[in-house]
Parts: sequence; structure tokens; C-alpha cells
Amino acid sequence: MSMNRRQLLAATGALIAAPHVARADARPRVVIIGGGAGGATAAKYIAKDSGGKIDVTLIEPSRTFVTCFHSNLYLGGFKDMKAITHSYEALKNHGVKVIHSRVAMIDRENKRVELDDSSHQAYDRLIVAPGIDLKYDSVPGWGQAFEEVMPHAWKAGKQTEILRAKLDAVPDGGTIVMIAPPNPYRCPPGPYERVSMMAYRLQQAGKKKARIVIIDPKESFSKQGLFQEGWEKHYPGMVEWLGPKIHDGLKSVDPKTGTVVTGFETYTNAALVNVIPAQMAGKIARDAKLVNETGYCPIKPETMQSAIDPLIYVIGDAAIAGDMPKSAFAANSQAKVAAMMIRGELIGARTFPARYANTCWSLISPNNTVKVGGSYGPKDGRIASVETFVSKVGETDAQRKEQQDENTGWYAGITADMFQ
Ligand SMILES: Cc1cc2nc3c(=O)[nH]c(=O)nc-3n(C[C@H](O)[C@H](O)[C@H](O)COP(=O)(O)OP(=O)(O)OC[C@H]3O[C@@H](n4cnc5c(N)ncnc54)[C@H](O)[C@@H]3O)c2cc1C
Repeated sequence: MSMNRRQLLAATGALIAAPHVARADARPRVVIIGGGAGGATAAKYIAKDSGGKIDVTLIEPSRTFVTCFHSNLYLGGFKDMKAITHSYEALKNHGVKVIHSRVAMIDRENKRVELDDSSHQAYDRLIVAPGIDLKYDSVPGWGQAFEEVMPHAWKAGKQTEILRAKLDAVPDGGTIVMIAPPNPYRCPPGPYERVSMMAYRLQQAGKKKARIVIIDPKESFSKQGLFQEGWEKHYPGMVEWLGPKIHDGLKSVDPKTGTVVTGFETYTNAALVNVIPAQMAGKIARDAKLVNETGYCPIKPETMQSAIDPLIYVIGDAAIAGDMPKSAFAANSQAKVAAMMIRGELIGARTFPARYANTCWSLISPNNTVKVGGSYGPKDGRIASVETFVSKVGETDAQRKEQQDENTGWYAGITADMFQ
């Protein structure tokens, strides 16, 4: 009687003793958690550049991805929801297997992840790219139960639509209060670009008596001089920024009445309160104990490898990336370094010293965009700036328009780089 391969392995005990070895596909396996700016890029580049030699599985619960980047442009009316929504379909052409599910647990000891449906995916290398979670308890009186009444819109999609609907309902003379987040958080200039877009949309609707008050826990913020110059010039009297020395601390918010209490003043009946709370690495990274006391994941700057588990790479907002901000540009750049290093480890592909880049553009008013960015590299155990640049106050209209053209081109380029 002839035995097939499976019967033979079972008879010799090999199937029971070494279940992971007995698989038809002997390619090394990379599993990626999270199909955002970091994860989607990493999945694509590992699959594409390994020419099919690595088995790549991307696990992401959503069927489409709505980018936070340019969601402020949706708020201002410069883009529609379709323009910031992307499909994972084309990634399959590179050989990426996409599983629409949530990873419930990382089993580091057995090198596998468990999905919501209790199935497992084994890995030789794991990329963790879950982005951020919001600290719902960081703003007294607010919490997840109130995120539709006082939206954060710091994860894009439904929240972004709620924020715009509420913005459009603000009456002339109404007050918007934005609670800005403490460092470190996703997209340092994001809250202030958002304020610009809110002011623009109010102005377009003829509501020039509406005002936006920013309660900020920080002494200063990204591109501050540039934003404040823009607000004074384009939205006079509409935007008021209050740092901690002025507002003397945020005491509480009351979602039922739209009240915001600071040490300095109480705002009653705010027409819209946009709470952007403190942030931390996504739950899956925290549960797997890949974070340190900061709530984010320490990494090796030469590779983006977790400093805690060498078989795991952490990229994007969840990682502690030194001088790099938490941005889509940064996540995409880190993903390419991780993808290269993993190909080097698993199939002996050639690797080069890590180099990272970032630019963040912010639209202040139509065709008036400012930028900040730099290049980065490993230094003294962290990712450090090599060179930086930032727009200047008083730039010409032509320069600002050129920067908006760059911004538009960047969005088209990075989303194609992630998803096509
Ligand atoms: C208003 C705003 C404006 C911004 N503008 C810009 C900009 O102009 N330029 C710029 O570069 N950046 C910008 N950003 C920042 C940018 O969106 C983020 O830095 C970037 O998306 C981070 O990428 P990531 O891959 O780390 O996380 P994300 O893009 O958030 O992706 C994480 C993914 O992981 C998935 N996930 C989480 N947990 C699990 C799990 N357990 N199992 C499976 N999947 C999971 C999530 O569903 C999500 O799709 C902006 C952000 C905001 C909020």
C-alpha cells in the first residue's frame, strides 16, 4: 500500500511534532498588521521587490482606507470623500494576500498572530503598523461615548463626516472650541491646518462672525508663525490660539451642554467642540508589550526593528521615531527601510544604510500652502535629523502656490505608492 506525503508524515510523527514545517509553501512568511500608510507600503514593497520569494499577508479590518492626510482638505471642501478613499485590490497584483480582519493577539513565543475569528497566521517576520489609539480618558468629561457629540476626527472616515456636518451647522457668531493634543501625536501641524480649513469654510458660508478658539496644552506648535500669519491675513478676528500660560489648564468639558471649562474662562454653548485627545500606540502593540513607558514602541533606528523583539518591526505612528514626526510620509519612508531589511534577512537581498525622509504640507487658504520637513538617519541609538527645512513668513503667492502643487502631487504619488 502506498502512502501519501501527509500519511507518511503522520506515521512517523513528524506532522504532530513539527506542524509548522510540514507546509507545501516553504517560502518565508511576513505578516503585516495594519493597512495604513506604513503597513500597506511595507506589504507592497516586500511582495514586489522579492519577486514572489516571500509570502506576504496584510491584515486590515477595513475594506477601504480613508486617509487622515488630506482629510482637512475634505473639511474645507477642497476634496470629496471619494478622493481620500482607497482600495486594497491592486495590492493583490503584487502578490500580497489581504485578509480583512482584526488581529486579536500577537503570540510572540509561537511566532503567530491570532485573528478575531480565532484563526492563526504564522510568521517569520512580523510588521506591526496599527497607528495610534486615542486616550479617551485624557480630557475630563469626554470619552468614547461622546465622540459623536464632540468629534475628534483624528481617525478618518465617519468621524471626518461628522465633524464637517457639525462645522456646517455652526451659526454666524457661533464659537468653535478645539482642544489640541499634547505631544507626541499624529501629524503635528494637523490641528492647525484643520483650524485654517474650518475658518475658510465658515468664511465661504458668509459666517465671518464665527470664531475658533484653540485650547492648547503646548507652549508652541508646528509652523506656528506661518499659521498665525495666515490666520491674521486671511481670517482676521476668527482664530484665537491660547497656550497653557493663558488658559491655565483645561479643567473639563460637558458634551451635554457644549461647555468647556479652563482655568481662565468658561465657554458655554459652543456650537462645535473638536476634542483631539492625547494618543498612544495602537492596542495590539501595547498588548504585545512592544511599548515602553511612553506608550509607543522603541525601535532600532538602523532597521525599524522592535528594540524588544528582533523578529518584529514597528513602523509608522506606533513607533518612537526620534526626530521624525508621526506622519504618512514618515510611515511610508520607514516602511521602505523595514521592507528592505526584511528582504535582506529572509532572502539575502542587498541592503543599504537606512535613510528616512519627511515633508508635511499644510493648506492655509486656497493655493497658500506651507511646508516643513527634512531627511533623517540613525545616530546615537535614535533617528536624528540630518537636515531640515521650513517655509518662511512673507513668502510670495507664487511660492505658496508652488508648494500647494507639490502637496497635490505628493498625495497622488504616496497613495499610488501605497495602494497601486
Ligand atoms: C487630520 C490629519 C491630517 C493629516 N495630514 C497629514 C499630511 O498632510 N501628511 C502626512 O504625511 N500625514 C498626515 N497625517 C498623519 C497620517 O495620517 C498618519 O501619520 C499615518 O496615517 C500613520 O500611518 P500608520 O500606518 O502608522 O497608521 P494608519 O495609517 O492609521 O494605519 C493603521 C491601520 O492599522 C489598522 N489596525 C489597527 N489595529 C489593528 C489590528 N489589531 N489588526 C489589524 N489592523 C489593525 C487600522 O485599521 C488602520 O487602517 C494626518 C493625520 C490627521 C489626523
